[in-house]
Amino acid sequence: MPTMIVVPQRDLLVVENLKKYFPVRSGLFQRIAAWVQAVDDVSFAIREGETFGLVGESGCGKTTIGRTILRLTPATGGSVFFDGEDVFSKRGSELKALRRNMQIVFQDPYSSLDPRMPVGEIIGESLQIHGIGNNRERAEIVQGMLAKVGLNPYHARRYPHEFSGGQRQRIGIARALTLRPKFIVCDEPVSALDVSIQSQVLNLLKNLQKEFGLTYLFIAHNLSVVEHISDRVGVMYLGKMAEVTTREELYRDPLHPYTQALLSAIPLPNPKLKRRRVVLSGDVPSPLNPPPGCRFHPRCPLAVDVCRQIEPVFEQKVADHWVACHLVSASAVKM
Ligand code: SF4
Repeated sequence: MPTMIVVPQRDLLVVENLKKYFPVRSGLFQRIAAWVQAVDDVSFAIREGETFGLVGESGCGKTTIGRTILRLTPATGGSVFFDGEDVFSKRGSELKALRRNMQIVFQDPYSSLDPRMPVGEIIGESLQIHGIGNNRERAEIVQGMLAKVGLNPYHARRYPHEFSGGQRQRIGIARALTLRPKFIVCDEPVSALDVSIQSQVLNLLKNLQKEFGLTYLFIAHNLSVVEHISDRVGVMYLGKMAEVTTREELYRDPLHPYTQALLSAIPLPNPKLKRRRVVLSGDVPSPLNPPPGCRFHPRCPLAVDVCRQIEPVFEQKVADHWVACHLVSASAVKM
């Protein structure tokens, strides 16, 4: 019998020690008075062809990571490598070429489409910017994209206000796909949609991923949505990565106390089954003045002295499972 060779997936996107601080200005001369540490020293990698889910409460920095990777907002420090290329060093035509391969689907399908442009122009705009095809060829590509996302050819002449929320998000997906990118940041793409529409859009994203060989960074605050679509998941807390592992491992055996608390809040499909709920006390502290040591310590039911003084290192504790917690060693803790 021939031996089967398993080829390991390569990393398409590598994020190293990424930082994004926003200045807080005050006074007559608008001097910088403080910094909001939105993303602080975050590292992870996304493998080719996978969906990497990024979860956490509002304000934890997940959307800022997506925007910084795409250079929609400049980074304060760290590096991002896409397909082996240093994203932050690119300028001019090199950056333009890189952008063909890195696109985004925005959270809000209402405000992310220009209301004055017909849908065909919205979807085809990037083709024009990149000088792809003539008018007829561009129109054909747009028609093809509309069909791929489940819309009709005549929709190209309509305006965004004539569509429902789900249809507008399909337009946003078609726009992201037009240049045939390798990588798409999906920034909470279903959170503004009705629950009944969410699964349709998620299934569309999955089908398109298979068809075009796409890699996704899927940002969400809903753990059930992330479980549905992700291959691996990163959990963020207050600008830091708390845990990264495969979807199966995360939902079966979460190691970080914050992840354990988040997962305990997901309702079980069978009402007769009960899950022990871990209720976190207090609010998320401000990223303007994050707590010393482990940023989760003011809310962590397991916190000990060292947690208040020394920041835990984000490191691999078991195979394919990275955690930032002093109490997690090779044998995992449970609350
Ligand atoms: Fe909790 Fe300490 Fe682990 Fe932070 S390092 S999550 S405070 S046990």
